Amino acid sequence: LRFEQAQTRDGHRVEVAANLGNTAHAADAVERGAEGVGLLRTEFLFMAYASAPDLATQIAEYREATDALAGRPLVARTLDVGGDKPLPYWPVPQEDNPFLGLRGIRLALTQPDVLETQLRALLMAAVGKPLRIMLPMVKDVAEFRAAKAIYDRLLKEIPEQQRATDVQLGVMIEVPSSALLAPTLAAEVDFFSVGTNDLTQYTLAIDRGHPELSAQANGLHPAVLRLIQMTVDAAHAHGKWVGVCGELASDAMAVPVLVGLGVDELSVSARQIPLVKARLREFDLAEAQATAQLALSKATSDDVRDALEAR
Ligand code: PEP
Ligand code: MG
Repeated sequence: LRFEQAQTRDGHRVEVAANLGNTAHAADAVERGAEGVGLLRTEFLFMAYASAPDLATQIAEYREATDALAGRPLVARTLDVGGDKPLPYWPVPQEDNPFLGLRGIRLALTQPDVLETQLRALLMAAVGKPLRIMLPMVKDVAEFRAAKAIYDRLLKEIPEQQRATDVQLGVMIEVPSSALLAPTLAAEVDFFSVGTNDLTQYTLAIDRGHPELSAQANGLHPAVLRLIQMTVDAAHAHGKWVGVCGELASDAMAVPVLVGLGVDELSVSARQIPLVKARLREFDLAEAQATAQLALSKATSDDVRDALEAR
């Protein structure tokens, strides 16, 4: 059953894709039923080298994934370092609050040549294949435009036969400001992918790795769900698609809520793919929509979980 198309009991299609940190694992993800890669965490590729991998090295790495995917889409996230993910050869000055400091797209834009090489490598690795590129930790459309200027220039510079032509540029929704401003972003991006790990952390002001508090950093918090709802509504109003690639996407209780909110793609760790597909087959879209409304009406994450358990 893992190879059957992911859909609800009444046939509403929701793509189920894999989260990967290593392109060598793409073949395994396909074997487990992945319909694509929904999040390639490219920073792990950079961490495997002593200095920034050059163009040829990156092309070879990304090609390993696109080859294994055999026409299924690859959603690659550009380098997301800083904060909890240091990169030894890209030191960031000492910061009091690294989670609120130079990280993600902000850090990448301080060395646009590194971002440019990565974008070039992705485009050149995916000739004839569907490629989606997404930018991490974007807070508003200005950061998106800065990166898109490089991307647009590359699309002009690289001859079409040497690069992907089925390509989209999107942003991750991990910072509350970008969910609140989703209508302005949706007009310009090709897609959104909600990173619920960071979105929950920044919405609830709870460090996702905090030894005592992280259990409360629950993506089923109604505040997080409302931000996801705003994101999906804005995207769909502009004909754009929305994925969820944080841990919440593989939470059995959250799956109907996310589908009911209108999420189009769930990206989860490879071994969860068959389970998420099986979960989708247990409910209808209308049921999911009612479940989502119920969750949105609650005041705390405990209230949400209690209500969902009682259903
Ligand atoms: C997220 O923040 O939800 C996400 C998918 O990105 P990462 O876990 O790599 O920060
Ligand atoms: Mg994140």
